[in-house]
Amino acid sequence: MNAPAKPRPMPWIMEIAPYVPGRSKTDDGRKAIKLSSNENPLGTSPAARAAFAAAADNLERYPDASGTELREALAQLHGLDPARIIYGNGSDEVLHLAAGAFAGPGDEIIYVNYGFSVYPIATRRVGATPVVAPDSDYATDVDAILACVSEKTRIVFIANPNNPTGTYAAREEIARLHAGLRPDILLVLDHAYAEYIEGKIDDGGMELARTAPNVLVTRTFSKLYGLAAERIGWGYASAEIIEAMHRIRLPFSITIAGTAAAIAALGDTAFVEHTRTHNAKWRRWFADEIAKLGNAGLRAVPSQANFILVLFEGALTAEAAYKGLMDAGYIVRWLPGQGLPHGLRITIGTEDETRAVAGILQRLVADARDSAAG
Ligand code: PMP
Repeated sequence: MNAPAKPRPMPWIMEIAPYVPGRSKTDDGRKAIKLSSNENPLGTSPAARAAFAAAADNLERYPDASGTELREALAQLHGLDPARIIYGNGSDEVLHLAAGAFAGPGDEIIYVNYGFSVYPIATRRVGATPVVAPDSDYATDVDAILACVSEKTRIVFIANPNNPTGTYAAREEIARLHAGLRPDILLVLDHAYAEYIEGKIDDGGMELARTAPNVLVTRTFSKLYGLAAERIGWGYASAEIIEAMHRIRLPFSITIAGTAAAIAALGDTAFVEHTRTHNAKWRRWFADEIAKLGNAGLRAVPSQANFILVLFEGALTAEAAYKGLMDAGYIVRWLPGQGLPHGLRITIGTEDETRAVAGILQRLVADARDSAAG
């Protein structure tokens, strides 16, 4: 007898490995200090929190579907054309909109090995084929990406700085990548962590998005602005690219409260600067502490983001360090599913948290050395 008929998902949908979010509880259910999702350890701007609370007066109303106030605030701060700004439920949605508007079955989308885990999801969701470019010691390798381009390539996704490696491709490299791509290929430069780059240098991405017809830059309020809960992301590109993406956007993808908080956060430059300075200081400190454990096989991949990828190539394995940190109440990100069974991605926390994580790793290194010797 035939099996009863039932709805069948598109075959490419079943090839998606579901997104794995950062954990906030230990294996035995204890609430832990969460350094697994690259959130802002200093919280949220007080001005943003006040704006969010005030929005509770209007819960019965739909948000402004055209995001006018948010676009105008962003345009003013960054010197952009508000008509060329797209926004979405986190920059995740903007990345999905790019794939949805510019690729489909039979097309190829390129991203790097150890790239952001939403790219494969966004690629497969539209039926396109992922093409993974090899890395160069965990960093983005422009020549390897260009070598992956075929006549089917429609999009290249690059996060700069990259997640989960924290590595940064310099302006000249991004310019070389752009110059090497056919003009019909959309280059998506994901700037989720761009505000954390030392010295406030930039990779020239926004300038390319302003001037080139095939570059989309995406940004987020989830990291530096401490508003991950409210899911506000945005992007900038040519009017044609933005117009195509708007056609498939959910009409009310950003909320009134989130928008109000985001606009207030843009104005709180003291909080933004405090976050940036804090991160730079403790990122450097933490990398130095890991360097001291170099003879035990630990290595910090150079990071320009708000996290550090630590590689474990000695007696202490990444898995054992992950469990040891969890036992001590700290959750970081172990990434065996992303080809990094030997790596932990650790968000830069508060001073106390960062010092504690370094101390726990020192202890775990010593324990592993003792048990190897014993
Ligand atoms: N891009 C990168 C590289 C990220 O790491 C993240 C967050 N994990 C995002 C985009 C999406 O962030 P959001 O949707 O919160 O804007």
